[in-house]
Amino acid sequence: MTEHTTRVDVGIVGGGPAGLMTALLLKRRGISAAVIESRSEETIRHTQRAGILEAPTVNMLVEAEVDSRVLTHGHEHEGTVLSFDGIQRRIDFQALVGRSVWLYPQNEVFHDLATAWQRESGEIHWSVTETAVEGIETAAPRISFTDAQGRARRIEADLIIGTDGSRSMCRKLIPEDIRTDHFTSYPFAWFGILCEAPPTAPELIYANSEIGFALISQRNETVQRMYFQCDPDTDPEAWSEEAIFDHIQQVLGAEDGVQLKRGPIIEKTVLPFRSYVCDPLSHGRLALAGDAGHTVPPTGAKGLNLAFSDVRALVPRVEEFITELRTHAGVADASDETAASSDVAATAVTVETPEPLRRYSRTALDRVWKAQNFSYWATNLLHRQPEETSFTHKRRRGEFDAITDSVHGRAYFADSYTGWSD
Ligand SMILES: Cc1cc2nc3c(=O)[nH]c(=O)nc-3n(C[C@H](O)[C@H](O)[C@H](O)COP(=O)(O)OP(=O)(O)OC[C@H]3O[C@@H](n4cnc5c(N)ncnc54)[C@H](O)[C@@H]3O)c2cc1C
Repeated sequence: MTEHTTRVDVGIVGGGPAGLMTALLLKRRGISAAVIESRSEETIRHTQRAGILEAPTVNMLVEAEVDSRVLTHGHEHEGTVLSFDGIQRRIDFQALVGRSVWLYPQNEVFHDLATAWQRESGEIHWSVTETAVEGIETAAPRISFTDAQGRARRIEADLIIGTDGSRSMCRKLIPEDIRTDHFTSYPFAWFGILCEAPPTAPELIYANSEIGFALISQRNETVQRMYFQCDPDTDPEAWSEEAIFDHIQQVLGAEDGVQLKRGPIIEKTVLPFRSYVCDPLSHGRLALAGDAGHTVPPTGAKGLNLAFSDVRALVPRVEEFITELRTHAGVADASDETAASSDVAATAVTVETPEPLRRYSRTALDRVWKAQNFSYWATNLLHRQPEETSFTHKRRRGEFDAITDSVHGRAYFADSYTGWSD
């Protein structure tokens, strides 16, 4: 039997960046929300993931008034370096499109949002288990779960938002005859390391060579992030520190060029690549945002940024929907229908997807496909294919030159990488 029930406008499954930002922006518009999250707050705070924030993402953090430290602790990058067979070309974002990106780790974004939500007494349940969402095709959708103390709980809402990441259970609630799963995989993965060393370079270096891809990134003054292309079934423990740094240095090429700053490796991970889009992103009283609705390979640094652009598109549409609902509820209250009979009807009657949520799905998917294209294109430009021949390698070199020799090509890269305006 459910012991504790909360009633809110919007129930949110998943307390990552998409879920927390949605909850905060809804609250700013007078819409109540409750969030459940299956991991502990501590675990998420220490999970290293995205690091590059587009200009529109940074603006959202600043405008959300969550005391984000992005402008004080983040690092502005006015450009990036693309390297092919040791030849380096800088893409000057500011000169080309007048925007920058910011290096500000995802766990810092999470810290800002989680701290703000809890400071503002927002309802959040960490470490939940047995999450179930019911009634998304009715006017009374609800979430049931077991909280960290083992108590059965329920959240009743007018709308459920699924921000439960790439293995989303919410997504599967959209019936298969309505949902299209667009999917492609790649024949390689990224081997990622965190190492205790100062930055190798002031900006990111995306490097390709005959032995594959590497990315020289940063985290802070003492810890650095680097990746290199590997097989998806690579065992991280089979690679020694020396072998890892030698391999990345070889991708960078140039003995007289960039020299890696080496240091003790404190984390090794293998990150598989896939592209996925769920269409539509809304059905009945459910909307999806962030990785729950789509995933991209990390080459274009789009994942976290797409999660935020979904939220930008979603929040005004949720406000529109809740306002319409309140207006109708006011009219119904004035009639002689009893509250009890309308509650029963709410759980029994099938409802259509509200028009504002249909519009959200269309708007968000337009941007998602632009980002899918950029991520797919950049991935194929910069990675070695398993069946690579001298022809395919030289052809990609021709493509690299066509992009980096031309101001229009560089501007395409800069515009896509730093984030299109809405
Ligand atoms: C190694 C790595 C590097 C990356 N680098 C970049 C980058 O440089 N730039 C970039 O833009 N993106 C990057 N990404 C992608 C980025 O991290 C994701 O796109 C981003 O986390 C999406 O945010 P989200 O809130 O949608 O999903 P998530 O951050 O995955 O949050 C979803 C949350 O839902 C919770 N959850 C799941 N199921 C349930 C359930 N049943 N009940 C309750 N809670 C649930 C999960 O525990 C999770 O905390 C990277 C990802 C990885 C893994």
